[in-house]
Amino acid sequence: MPEGHTLHRLARQHRERFVGGVVRVSSPQGRFAEGAALVDGQVLVRSEAYGKHLLHHYESGLAVHVHLGLYGNFHDSELPMGAPVGQVRMRMIGAGGAGVGFGTDLRGPSACEVLTPPEVEALTGRLGADPLRRDADPDRALCRIARSRRPIGALLMDQSVIAGVGNVYRAEVLFRHGVSPYREGAAVSAEQRQAIWADLVELMPVGVMTGRMHVVRPEHDHGEPSYAPDRPRTYVYRRSGAACRICGATVAHAVMEGRNLFWCPGCQPD
Ligand SMILES: [Zn+2]
Repeated sequence: MPEGHTLHRLARQHRERFVGGVVRVSSPQGRFAEGAALVDGQVLVRSEAYGKHLLHHYESGLAVHVHLGLYGNFHDSELPMGAPVGQVRMRMIGAGGAGVGFGTDLRGPSACEVLTPPEVEALTGRLGADPLRRDADPDRALCRIARSRRPIGALLMDQSVIAGVGNVYRAEVLFRHGVSPYREGAAVSAEQRQAIWADLVELMPVGVMTGRMHVVRPEHDHGEPSYAPDRPRTYVYRRSGAACRICGATVAHAVMEGRNLFWCPGCQPD
């Protein structure tokens, strides 16, 4: 599933390509036809991400809310766009402005809907602090962790605590701070909680800039290759059974709350 940096990257791209101009919105597949009609032909005034949620705000006050889920993706192309291919839930075509006009096709999202301002507020009100947002309130998130008996590995994935962190950043940030994913939130020290938040605030913008999750410190970025040829190295994510890049212990794997979990028992003792 895409993590928060992917959504912030999309929000930025849509800002550059569509905000400030009239957007033609349609649903070639038909499933979003009613919603598309509500915003079609309006000026897109703001594009933002909140955790793993993308919001397009139109001049009427209505917003299109997209959650990509496991399979969703946008595909941009210059104008004129060709005929829609496959199940295109939403097609956006920008006016073009001064430069080249762009269009984008959204396929396979888990959510694509029009929200009113109170509905947007309700959505963002349910979400925790997003390390990629300047208006994030880390104190609330860190207090919830401090009071919780749940494992920190589960709390970091809980979008109502911290919004935007997914499986890769969860595994890697806990490794970087030597914290076992099984440690209770309340047992993670205040310094460690602050350091984990500060690290996410530093790491995740790199993902927005590059589109890749760079999580390995430069001095450790050698040795065994990454789990996939087009991805940067990780310390533990998808490295179960391999030797830890730091201590040589075998990287462990388990399932926590339905999601794969990776950690080094040597560097992250219970
Ligand atoms: Zn280790």
